[in-house]
Amino acid sequence: MNLREEAAAIRDDLIALRRELHRIPEIGLDLPKTQAAVLAALDGLPLEISTGEGLSSVTAVLRGGRPGPVVLLRGDMDALPVTEESEADYVSGHDGVMHACGHDLHTAGLVGAARLLSAHREALNGDVVFMFQPGEEGFDGAEHMIDEGVLEAAGRPADAAYGLHVTSDMVPRGVFTTRPGPMMAASGGLFVRVVGSGGHGSRPHRALDPVPVACEMVTALQTLVTRRFSTFEPVVVTVGSFHAGTKRNIIPDEAVFEATVRTFSAEAADQVAEQSVKLCEDIAAAHGLSAEVRYDREYPATVNRADEARFVAETVREVFGDERYVEMPEPTMGAEDFSLVLQSVPGSYMFFGACASGDHELAAANHSPRAAFDDSVLADGAALLAELAVRRMGRGRV
Ligand SMILES: [Zn+2]
Repeated sequence: MNLREEAAAIRDDLIALRRELHRIPEIGLDLPKTQAAVLAALDGLPLEISTGEGLSSVTAVLRGGRPGPVVLLRGDMDALPVTEESEADYVSGHDGVMHACGHDLHTAGLVGAARLLSAHREALNGDVVFMFQPGEEGFDGAEHMIDEGVLEAAGRPADAAYGLHVTSDMVPRGVFTTRPGPMMAASGGLFVRVVGSGGHGSRPHRALDPVPVACEMVTALQTLVTRRFSTFEPVVVTVGSFHAGTKRNIIPDEAVFEATVRTFSAEAADQVAEQSVKLCEDIAAAHGLSAEVRYDREYPATVNRADEARFVAETVREVFGDERYVEMPEPTMGAEDFSLVLQSVPGSYMFFGACASGDHELAAANHSPRAAFDDSVLADGAALLAELAVRRMGRGRV
C-alpha cells in the first residue's frame, strides 16, 4: 500500500471537510455541530463508533483482519474564543469563535487516516482507535475521554498512541518535528484575590490598599522563579490578568490577578504549587491584608517515549524524505492534554508545519486572530498518522 498516494487522492475531500469545520467552530466539551460533521464523514466506513456521555467526543474502532497491537490516533476538535481576522473565503460563521489553533485540520486529518486505514482493514495486524477529542483548550477533554474508556476502546489497552498538531510559525510548511523525552510543559493556574479595605486615595493610611500589595506579589513571583529554582529547571510564571479599582482617587477593597505556570519536572510542579501560594499569602500578611489564593494543577508535561519519537522521525524520513523532518532542538513551554494519554500509553506527539504564508517565522502564531493554516498539507498529515499505525502494528506487541 502507498498511503501517501492514497491520501493525495482524497485530498480534496479532506480540504472540503476542514473548511466545513472551520465555518462552525465550537468551544469546550460540547461540540454538537462538529460531532455531527465527523459522524457524517465516517459514515459507511467499517468502524465501531461510540460517542461520549459527558462530552461530544467520537471514538471509532477499526478491527484489523489479523490480531495484533492496538494503536490509538488522536485529533482534537475544539476552537477558541477568538474573533477571526481572515481574507479567506471560508471563515468562522460563529461570532467570537475561531479555529485559531488549527484543530479543524486535526479533525479532518484524523478522518483521512480513518478512511485510509479502513480501505486496508483486512491487511491490518491489529486494531486502531480513532480518538476525536473535544475540549483540549483547557477543558480536560482528554481526561474525560480517558475516564469514559477511550484507552481500552478496542477491548484491551492501547499499545501505542500518536497525535499531530499543526503549527503556523514553528517550522516551515510541510515539515514534521518532534523530540524524544519532554516536548511540552506542564501547566498550572494561580488565582489570587488580595483583600484589603478601600478608602479615599488621598488618605491611604486609613485604608488597607490591596494594589501595591498585589503588585509586590507579581514581582516577587518572578523573584521566586529566579531564586528558588535552578537555572537548569525551566519555570515560567506569567501574570496575564490583573484587575483592581475603578478610579484613580478611590482605593479599592480588592485586587485580583491570575497567572499561568509552566514547568517540566514533577518536583518543580510541586514546588511552584506550594511556594507561589505561600509567597502571596505571606506578602499579604506582612502588610496586614489577607489573600485568598488557589493553585490549580492543569495538564502534565507531554513526554514522548524516546523509541517512539525516533520511530516517528524514521517514518517521516522514509515516507516523505529527509528534508521533511527536523528534530525539535528544545521543548516548548506550551501545554497539551495528549500528555495524559502519553502518561498511560507509550507514544509520541508531533508538530506539523502548516504556515499559510511564505515565511513561517513572520507568520501569526497559533491562537492569534490572524493565524492561518494551509490545508494543502492535510493529506500528508493523514498519511503519516495512517503510516505510523500500519508500521507500529506490523512490529507487534512489544
Ligand atoms: Zn491546539
